[in-house]
Amino acid sequence: MGNCCPRGNTAPDEPLDDQKGGVSTSGNNNNAPSTHKLESSTRAIPPSASPARTDKKSKAAQNGPVLGRPMEDVKSMYSFGKELGRGQFGVTHLVTHRQIGEQFACKTIAKRKLVNKEDIEDVRREVQIMHHLTGQPNIVELKGAYEDKHSVHLIMELCAGGELFDRIIAKGHFSERAAASLLRTIVQIVHTCHSMGVIHRDLKPENFLLLSKDENSPLKATDFGLSVFYKSGDTFKDIVGSAYYIAPEVLKRKYGPEVDIWSVGVMLYILLCGVPPFWAETEHGIFNAILRGHIDFTTDPWPSLSPQAKDLVRRMLNSDPKQRLTAYQVLNHPWIKEDGEAPDTPLDNAVLDRLKQFRAMNKFKKVALRVIAGCLSEEEIMGLKEMFKSMDTDNSGTITLEELKQGMSKQGTKLSEMEVKQLMEAADADGNGTIDYEEFITATMHMNRMDREEHLYTAFQYFDKDNSGYITIEELEQALQEFGMHDGRDIKEIVSEVDGDNDGRINYDEFVAMMKKGNPEVGGNLKKRRSMAI
Ligand code: ADP
Repeated sequence: MGNCCPRGNTAPDEPLDDQKGGVSTSGNNNNAPSTHKLESSTRAIPPSASPARTDKKSKAAQNGPVLGRPMEDVKSMYSFGKELGRGQFGVTHLVTHRQIGEQFACKTIAKRKLVNKEDIEDVRREVQIMHHLTGQPNIVELKGAYEDKHSVHLIMELCAGGELFDRIIAKGHFSERAAASLLRTIVQIVHTCHSMGVIHRDLKPENFLLLSKDENSPLKATDFGLSVFYKSGDTFKDIVGSAYYIAPEVLKRKYGPEVDIWSVGVMLYILLCGVPPFWAETEHGIFNAILRGHIDFTTDPWPSLSPQAKDLVRRMLNSDPKQRLTAYQVLNHPWIKEDGEAPDTPLDNAVLDRLKQFRAMNKFKKVALRVIAGCLSEEEIMGLKEMFKSMDTDNSGTITLEELKQGMSKQGTKLSEMEVKQLMEAADADGNGTIDYEEFITATMHMNRMDREEHLYTAFQYFDKDNSGYITIEELEQALQEFGMHDGRDIKEIVSEVDGDNDGRINYDEFVAMMKKGNPEVGGNLKKRRSMAI
C-alpha cells in the first residue's frame, strides 16, 4: 500500500509524467488502481484558455487563471527541497520558508494537467475546502495558495511522519485494540468533515499522514482534491475515488456523505486482515465485487476476530447508504468503545466549538474578528457561506433560533434550548434575534485565521484611527459603538485586561497577544480530540 514510487528531485515546474486526463492508473507501481476521476475529458487546454481568464489588460494580466488572483513567485518565498510524493495532478516537495526557516510541504499542480473546466474548478475547490477546514487538529492545514505561470502551489503543514500504512507495516503487527483506536481518530475526522459540510470522496490509507516520526504522532487527513461541499439532501453523480474504496452508490451515480463511511469501512477491513474486501485483477472486476457486496469473513484471520469487529465492518459496508452507520453512530459502536476510551458524551463539532469560543470572547476581540472577517478572500469563506446557506432553510438571509437548533441536531449535536439560545445570543451581534450572514462568518471563523499577521495588522490599524501606534480607550469606545457593541462599563476593564505594560493604551504586541490568547473558559469545557497512537 502507499506511495511506492521512489523518484529523484523534480523541480516543480518541470513537466511531470505525461498523462492525458481521463481514467488514470498511473503514479502507482503497485497493482492498486490510483485515484481518478472517470469523467475527465481527454482534451488538454492551455492555461490561457481557462474560463477564469479575462482579456482585459488591466488587472487580468496579473491575475492567475486558476486562483483568480495576482500571480506570485512562490520560489522567492520558499526554497524547494526533495520530493515527498506525487499524485495524479501534482508533485509534493519539502519546502523551506526563506525568511523564517520553517519547513512545509508544497503540492505543485502543473496547470497544463488541468485539462478542462472541471479540473480547474477542482483545484479552486480544494483550496476553498482546505481553508474551510483550517484549524481542525487532524486535518492537514493549508498555509497558502500561490499561482505562477506554469503551476498552482499549495503550501501545507509538513507531515514528516509519512503515510499511515507505511508505519503500520513497519511495526509489523496490529491488534484489534490498536485498530479501534486508529479507526476512532479516522472517523472523528470524517465526522468533522461532514459536520463542516464537506464530503472527502477519496478516503484511503495513502491520504492519512503522520505529523511527525514520534510514536504518538497525530494523524492528519490530506488530499481534498476530490472533496465537495454538500448540504443535507444534496446528491452527487461523478464517479470519483480510488477503486478499492469506492462505495456501490458512487458506481450507481447517486450518492451523498455516506460514501466516506464506506471507504473507511474498507480501510478497517484492510487494517484487520491485510487485504481489501473487494478485490479483482482489473478495475472492472473490483467494481463488480463492490456491487455484489459480499464480504468474506471465513478466511483467516476473520474466524478468530471478535464478533463486534465483524459487526462494525458489516454495518460500515452496508450496501444501502441509508442503512449504513453515520460517523456519529460508528463512534458509538461497542467495538470502537471497547477499551472504554471512546466518547459516550455527544461529540464536539466544529460549528459548536466555534460558537462556544466566540461566546467566551470579550467584545474587543469580537469586533476585531469582525474586521478580520471583512478581509478574508472569497475562497477562505466559501465553506462558511455554504454552511450558512444550509442552515438558512427558508433562504431568508438570516438564521433563526429554530434553524440553528435544527442545523446543530443535523450534525449529531444535542443541545438544550438554553444552550442554543446562548449560542444564538453570542453570534447575534446586533441583538435582533437572528444571525445574519456576516455575524455567522464572524462567529464561526476559526481562531487560526487570527494567526495571520497581515490580518492582525489590518485589524489593529482599523482601531488605531490616528495611526499613533496605540489603541486608546476613546478609540476602542468609538469602534465598539460603530459595531453596536458599546457598553460603557466594559471598556476600561477590557483595556486593563489587555494592557500588559499598564500605560492605559494598547500597543500592537498587546493586541496580538490578546487575539492569540485562548479562551480558557472554553478550553476547560471541551473535549480535546485524541491523537492517534499506533
Ligand atoms: P494528489 O492530490 O495529486 O494525489 P496528494 O495530496 O495525495 O496528491 O499528495 C501526494 C503525496 O505527497 C502523498 O501521498 C504524500 O506522500 C505526499 N504528501 C502530500 N501532502 C503532504 C504533506 N502535507 N506532508 C508530507 N507529505 C505530503
